[in-house]
Amino acid sequence: MKIKSAEIVISAVKPTQYPEENMPEIAFAGRSNVGKSSTINMLTNRKKLARTSASPGKTQTINFYRINGQFHLVDLPGYGYAKVAKTSKEQWGKMIETYLNNRKNLLEVFQLVDIRHKPTEQDQQMYHWIKYFGFHGIVLATKADKISRGQRQKHLQLIRETLEMDEEDLLIPISSETREGKEELWEVIGEIFRV
Ligand code: GDP
Repeated sequence: MKIKSAEIVISAVKPTQYPEENMPEIAFAGRSNVGKSSTINMLTNRKKLARTSASPGKTQTINFYRINGQFHLVDLPGYGYAKVAKTSKEQWGKMIETYLNNRKNLLEVFQLVDIRHKPTEQDQQMYHWIKYFGFHGIVLATKADKISRGQRQKHLQLIRETLEMDEEDLLIPISSETREGKEELWEVIGEIFRV
């Protein structure tokens, strides 16, 4: 994918702030710090389009990025940050549900999990949610550079089992450090937009 332009449209906290539903979009869900921003930056060849941060859990906004004036990539607020107050967790749930429920131009939601760790209960919930709303349930295993090739299959298998993924569900190892998985991801995104 040749990236001609990539810009933030808005960091939205409520639906009235969402951009118009006039172009297709794909969203990225996952725990805080899993690598959502880094993945969006990798895909768009931008260092700071989506702000990556070392202090997770701060952003409770839905960030819409417009790519080539043709589609949106959407960074959903991260979950699972222990220090976040309960009220803000509830807020998070409502925010995501409202978005998934009402967004007509949303074609797919990618779930990101850290390749090193067994998916958490919240990861499982998010994944079931994604499937419940009728999306395929494509999972990206982030930070693949952090484990050795020899360990990889074992980790991928644990993710598959824990999330109860179907055999045909895609599980793609990616790394924003080495850019592994970037081309495959763009192919998958291309397929989704062609439908
Ligand atoms: P987000 O909260 O999900 O948006 O996560 P970020 O993209 O901000 O990444 C959180 C931290 O993980 C940052 O310190 C990143 O540099 C680091 N990180 C993200 N992706 C990778 C990766 O593929 N490999 C490695 N080694 N570190 C990564």
